[in-house]
Amino acid sequence: MFLGPPGAGKGTQAVRLARARHLAHLSTGDLLRAAVAEGTPLGRAADAHIRAGRLVPDDLVLGALRERIGRSDARAGFVLDGFPRTLAQARALDAMAELDAVVSFELPEPVLLERLAGRRICPKCGAVYHVSASPPREPGRCDRDGVELRQRPDDRPEAVSVRLRVYAEQTEPVLAYYRERGLLRPLDASGSTDEVARRLTALLEGE
Ligand code: ADP
Ligand code: AMP
Repeated sequence: MFLGPPGAGKGTQAVRLARARHLAHLSTGDLLRAAVAEGTPLGRAADAHIRAGRLVPDDLVLGALRERIGRSDARAGFVLDGFPRTLAQARALDAMAELDAVVSFELPEPVLLERLAGRRICPKCGAVYHVSASPPREPGRCDRDGVELRQRPDDRPEAVSVRLRVYAEQTEPVLAYYRERGLLRPLDASGSTDEVARRLTALLEGE
């Protein structure tokens, strides 16, 4: 499980780790954005919360995660990214999965803000870029499918400040929940993507 503030690099590392270890990548943010794009009932209920930078209500997120965790590709193991974000979600997860490790991505706020401001995503495949740290080959276009990249609505400054506050108020207690259970492993999330990946590998090999 990867915990940490928005923009810390959880998704970037989750994609790499899942590929390297043949694990499923379970991101509730990705699930919710896909639901919004498809206009499903979940997406319609979640859209305004996401845009404003607020959390989507627990019952909706839990329903989506329960369905995702039950799919066959998750049976051999998974990386959980962006879930749980509230104590109620953490308690509900106890009945759904057994955790090997909980990694807490740590990064100073000015660096988070820089990563969030420069994040661009492909609306078609969900690939994540950064305007300076990991730009696409052709400016503004996805390497995989050539689609024009976009800024997430919740990466605009108004929503970012809400998300950082929500993280401190609602998600930091989740860190304490796993710390008390001896599962929490802090990770220095600064430096290049490769550096963070190396630190993460070393940390997981120690498990
Ligand atoms: P999270 O999933 O924690 O919100 P992301 O993985 O989407 O974070 O990363 C946020 C932004 O920072 C993205 O634009 C990503 O390309 C970029 N990024 C991720 N890791 C690094 C890194 N180690 N150095 C610089 N930029 C990074
Ligand atoms: P992320 O892609 O993880 O940054 O998530 C983007 C947005 O989706 C968040 O700001 C929330 O609005 C919503 N979201 C993602 N995961 C959760 C969750 N576990 N609980 C509640 N809302 C979530």
